[in-house]
Formats: sequence, C-alpha cells, structure tokens
Amino acid sequence: MREIKPFKVAIVGTGYVGLGTAIMLAYLGHDVVGLDVDAAKVDMLRRGQLPIYEPGLAELMQQAGERLRWTTDYAEAIPEADAIFICVGTPPQADGRPDLKYVAEAARCIARNLNGKVQVVVNKSTVPVGTGDWVARLIEDNALEYHANRYFVVSNPEFLREGTAVHDSLYPDRIVVGGEHEEGVKRLVELYAPLLEQSFEAPEFAPRPQAYTRPALVTTSLGSAEMIKYAANAFLALKISFANEVANLCEHVDADIEEVVRGIGCDARIGPRFLAAGAGWGGSCFGKDTAALISTGADYGYDMPILQAAVTVNTRQRHVAITKLQRHLRRLKGKRVAVLGMAFKPGTDDLRDAPAYDCIARLVDLGATVVAHDPIAMDRARREWANLEYEEAPTAQAALKGADAVLVMTEWQEYKDLDWSAACRLMRNRLVIDLRGVVTSAPAATVVERVGRPSLG
Ligand code: NAD
Repeated sequence: MREIKPFKVAIVGTGYVGLGTAIMLAYLGHDVVGLDVDAAKVDMLRRGQLPIYEPGLAELMQQAGERLRWTTDYAEAIPEADAIFICVGTPPQADGRPDLKYVAEAARCIARNLNGKVQVVVNKSTVPVGTGDWVARLIEDNALEYHANRYFVVSNPEFLREGTAVHDSLYPDRIVVGGEHEEGVKRLVELYAPLLEQSFEAPEFAPRPQAYTRPALVTTSLGSAEMIKYAANAFLALKISFANEVANLCEHVDADIEEVVRGIGCDARIGPRFLAAGAGWGGSCFGKDTAALISTGADYGYDMPILQAAVTVNTRQRHVAITKLQRHLRRLKGKRVAVLGMAFKPGTDDLRDAPAYDCIARLVDLGATVVAHDPIAMDRARREWANLEYEEAPTAQAALKGADAVLVMTEWQEYKDLDWSAACRLMRNRLVIDLRGVVTSAPAATVVERVGRPSLG
C-alpha cells in the first residue's frame, strides 16, 4: 500500500451515505470523525455497532480501527477538519422539492465552528442545482469571523447503492467533483488519490474486481455536479419504467420480457442493466430524485414529460401484484396472503418507498390477512410500518403455511434458494406471484405468475 497524505475529515450525518463514506475514507488511511445529531446512533457506533444493515461494512469499520471516531459535537469535529462532508438527508416534501432544512442546519453549525484554516466543505447530500452556492452563503452569514477564501464549497455526489455500498465506495465507476474554486477541487482530488489510483490494499472480503482498473475523475462546475446526480438517478428510473412498460405489453402479446431484454441489452448503446421488470422501482432515492428534478423544471416553467411518464408507469406498476391476485382469487377479503420481502431490494434493511409497503397496505385495505417475512428488515418494519396491520412470520415457510397466495416482493438469495416445492405444499392454494424472478420452475400443482413472462405451471 502506497503512503497516503492523510486528511482530517469530518462527516456530518452518519446515515447510509455518511457511514459508508466515513468508514471507506478511514479504511483508506484518513483520520475521520463521524458526527450525527442522533445520540443513540452515535452511542451504537462508539460501541462498534452499526445502526444499519450493509454487507461488509462492519468488517471494513473494524479494519479502519482507531482512524475512525464518532461524536455529536460540532466543536469536536469541525475546527480541525481539512474536509467536511455534508451527508444529511434531503427527504421529499409534498410538492416534490427536497427538504433542505437538515442541510441548512448542518451548514450553520459548520460555519460556527470553522477556525480560519483552509477547509473544504463537501456537499455529498443530493441537492438541487444552486444549493452549493446557497450553502456557501449560509456559511458566510453564520461564521463567527469573516473567513473569505478560507473555505471552499465543493459538490461530490454519491452513487453508492445500498446492499453493495462497500464495493461501490471502494471501486466506483466515477468520482464527480464540482466546484468554482480550483483549490477546493484540487484538495478533494488529493483526498481521493488512493481511490483514483487504486493504490490501497483491497480488503479480503471485498476484492478488487478483475476487470476493474480505476474510476473516472469528472471535474465540473458546482451546478453540473449537482445536476449529474439527479440526471443519473432519473435515467436509471426511466430505464426500469421502460422495461416495465414493455413487460406489460409482452403479457398482452405473449412475448417474454426476459428474452426481449437479452436481445436489446446486447446493443452496447442500450446495455443489459437496470432493465428488470417487476414491482417497479423504490428506495430512498429514485422517487425523491425524480420528483425533485420535475419540481426544478416546474420552478423554471419547464415540463419534463418523459420523467413524469416514468413516475406514472412506476405508480401503475405498484398495483400489478394486486391485479394478478384478483385475477386468480377474485375477492381478496378474508384471503391469507404471504408477502416475502419487505426491503426495497436485497442486501439492505432500508424500507423507504419499498413497493412491499404499498402492496401490504392495499391488501389490508381489501380485507386480506397479510403474513410478511423479510430476512433482515422485519425489526425495522416493526418500528417504521407500525401503522400497517400485518402478521410477522419467522421464516418464509411459516409465511406460506395455509396461505391462499404468496407475493415475492424482494429477490433475497434466501428466497432463490428456497425449496419451493416443499414450501408450496404448505399453502392452502398454490399461487405464487413472483415479481422478482426468484422461482425458476413451477412446483407441482402450483401456478407461478410473473411480470412480462408467460406464467409457469
Ligand atoms: P439517512 O437519513 O440515512 O441519514 C441522514 C443522517 O443525517 C441521519 O443519521 C440524521 O440523524 C443525520 N442528520 C440530520 N441532520 C443533521 C445535522 N444537522 N447534523 C448532523 N447530522 C444530521 O440519509 P442517507 O440515505 O444517508 O442519505 C443522505 C443523502 O445522500 C441524501 O441527500 C440522499 O439523497 C443521498 N444519497 C443517498 C443514497 C442512498 O442509497 N441512501 C445514495 C446516494 C445519495
């Protein structure tokens, strides 16, 4: 491992992004202090426990060792830091605009603790174009002394995916750094040198992929960097909605979306990824970021019909499972429906905007009894979905026992490995609505309905 120039780094907000960033930077050799206003979270982290489920992150944290500290105190984290990352949430508001109150609060607290040495304030939260300038202004207005040219605001959007965050942060496709001052951009590029040069020793549990060389470095203006994050997420959401739209048509004309995607994905201009038809996209980012981009357009009197259509298609896709159930069972009142998978995707316990939530809510509304299972997210669901009336099952098999149908909502490996023949024998009525392609052959006397593909059995 090449010697690196260690930076003192403060990470403000230790959620999915802040934690991943803090741990990755400490692993690379920087001195990192993670700061959060949530004292319970910081207590857990101080005890060496992670408040979220993310494969490999605990191991990486252990290897980062004493280069990693946690605090709730801005006065402890900010004054000494060379680089300060803002990683707080930007949740959606009713009008689609992201709520920037956490960013504003973080900026004010940072401002009050700057010490006059040259510091880079890095905005990693996903924020609309113009927020970087606004943050710079907030800092200027709230700093206790005038620090002209002593700090730089830089935008460095994050592209990690929950469930593969360790891999994504060590082996990113690209690092985007946007700023108006060369000095700020230069410092951040220096901080990322071990990643850009891939000069660090890869951890055993997250080896460097064979074909991987180095990430691309994309330096831009502040506004372009902010736009890149939204445009990237919007495009990915668009791809999934497109696949779902074609999949639904495949059902009408008796074609198979998987074969279609294989055929179009070989075209390098299209590519095979992010074209999986199913329950529609979810998670904390796609819905929020498409809504934010559409609302930015609206602020300028500019319609974004393509994005609006992607959202409409996705909303419709959330009902596909229920429509298929109704086609087979007719009335759902009094029926027992098993739901396998609550997290919005495998490898995470994140439940934000998970399609399973909408399905469970609709089933309950229609009078069905819902028995749900998730290998990881059930504890979190007990807290965050307390308004939903469903029964918990300790195992997938227990969920299927006596059920009139099962919906597969998340493609956990556990469900792919399930002995479906044995599990379906536990059901009262053997109907599987597989929205995630986990069932590859039909168990005896079972109907397996899929999205965009002929049913099995
Ligand atoms: P999160 O909700 O998991 O975490 C945010 C954290 O910030 C929380 O722990 C909260 O307590 C803390 N916080 C709030 N206000 C604070 C303050 N004033 N000072 C210190 N800490 C404060 O959010 P997240 O999923 O990590 O997302 C953070 C940002 O990154 C968002 O803008 C999001 O859009 C973006 N992003 C998220 C992902 C993802 O996969 N989750 C990926 C890329 C980008």
